[in-house]
Amino acid sequence: MSNKTLTLTVFLLSTAIGLATVGYFNHYFAKQALQSDAEQLLYKFHDALLEAREVLDSLPAPEQFLCSSENIAILTKLAYEHPSIRLIGTLHANGSDCSSSPLQLSLKHYHERILAPDLHRLTDNLALASAGIVNENVLDLLMVRSHGDSRYYASIDPFMVNYLMDLNCEDCLEYDFFVDGSPRLEFRSAAMNQASFIEHKASRLEETINVDLFVRGTEAFYDHYKQLSWFSSLAFALLLASVITMLSYRLLTIRQSMERIIKDALAHNEFVPFYQPVVDSRTGEVVGAEMLARWRKTNGDIVPPYQFIPFAEDSGMIIEISQQLLEKTAADIKTLKWENGSQFMSVNIVPEHLKTNHLFELIQQLCQRNNITPKAFSLEITERMKIDDLAQARRALQNFYDLGIELKLDDAGTGYGGFSYIQELNISTLKIDKMFVDTIASEDLKGTVLESMISFAKDSQLGMIAEGVEEKHQVSYLQERNVYLVQGYVYAKPMPIDEFVDWVKTKH
Ligand code: C2E
Ligand code: CA
Ligand code: CA
Repeated sequence: MSNKTLTLTVFLLSTAIGLATVGYFNHYFAKQALQSDAEQLLYKFHDALLEAREVLDSLPAPEQFLCSSENIAILTKLAYEHPSIRLIGTLHANGSDCSSSPLQLSLKHYHERILAPDLHRLTDNLALASAGIVNENVLDLLMVRSHGDSRYYASIDPFMVNYLMDLNCEDCLEYDFFVDGSPRLEFRSAAMNQASFIEHKASRLEETINVDLFVRGTEAFYDHYKQLSWFSSLAFALLLASVITMLSYRLLTIRQSMERIIKDALAHNEFVPFYQPVVDSRTGEVVGAEMLARWRKTNGDIVPPYQFIPFAEDSGMIIEISQQLLEKTAADIKTLKWENGSQFMSVNIVPEHLKTNHLFELIQQLCQRNNITPKAFSLEITERMKIDDLAQARRALQNFYDLGIELKLDDAGTGYGGFSYIQELNISTLKIDKMFVDTIASEDLKGTVLESMISFAKDSQLGMIAEGVEEKHQVSYLQERNVYLVQGYVYAKPMPIDEFVDWVKTKH
């Protein structure tokens, strides 16, 4: 895939992920906000109902309550004192008939709250949702409906209720109660005998109106909310996508430039082998060595393997690097006069090397060309890397075994390959990792791991090389447990071939 297509794909994918994420949180937070809005509305609504009840209680007994100017004054005063109550038509009332002068509970707090411009749609929907409840249960004579001025009232008309209940016409209720188009919780002053009934309705109303209803009622607002934030969601997603795309583009180019740099280094033959001896601690004799890659830049700087091996292994370039190194190692084996296999030369391989025949053919050619016996080479495979197909790896290894080339398990005890690699791959030797050698004479728990690794290797008749040995007392400890082969700074650090040749000479 070209860089352009890759970058575009990353951009589109991250935009989609960004949108989905924002959408989800939008949804979640809007719902939370609406839920708490709904709860608050409900509290206010209940407060208004309580206030209405108090008013009902404070009024004279219904049968005594006539539409006298005195009573109307009482009502007016009440309405003045209680913001939730208001009188409708009182001013036009004539002395004896108060039927046109209902005292109305206007759920003032409630509608004030929902009159905020953004919430208009919320109120419409709330009205519909509430009407739905009325249909389900006509005895809850709750009418919430849009008025010309967008006010909402819960309305109960005792006369009408009585009339309809007499008729047993429950279905008529909804229609009839919308006659004047202003749903409200109200009572008419001339019908004070219905006061208790109204009270009853009020409590039913309280039971009926619940948070769910409000939430349902707010769904339209919620849609609106989502639409409002659509632009910002898109902006956020695009921003996120741009950042991710820029980062991945940067990573991609870093990777590509790293690849270019390594290719250049290969072309300039900059990878060189260093050698670290493996010594028999009983005799001080050099039994072999491990070849360790170094990158020697043209300016003479030496780059240690941890700075390029992981990338080289990841990108597959380790194959070419190994080839460059092995060609030099073959020549160095000759220089060392190890070509008859008197000492082994370990080379590190990765699972990738076992997927094709390249390495095998290369070693074979190098041996033939330089007149080296293959068993002068030995392979090290790390337990840290996963081998996808053990059976296939085993078949590839068999070619090496047939030539007398052995396989050592590197970093034994630190990875996940462990036991299965030993069983399946016909390992000859365990290289005990520095991590375990470091636990010698310390209280560290891993000390017991070292003990068990040693006894496991003995039981399985595996050879052992202790790696990263830096101290004399570690050598003694290992000797006491019959581990004699040692690779570590206690003897020597990895060295370039000239130094190594000199160093080996001093051991004779
Ligand atoms: P490794 O194969 O486990 O090699 C042993 C490492 O331990 C080497 O590090 C060596 O210098 C270091 N070492 C040995 N004795 C001591 C000691 O007493 N103390 C301390 N502190 N360190 C000690 P180096 O050379 O830096 O190599 C690091 C790793 O890079 C190697 O670990 C190996 O995994 C990888 N590597 C090196 N060369 C190659 C190569 O040609 N191919 C592959 N695939 N990997 C390589
Ligand atoms: Ca190694
Ligand atoms: Ca190792």
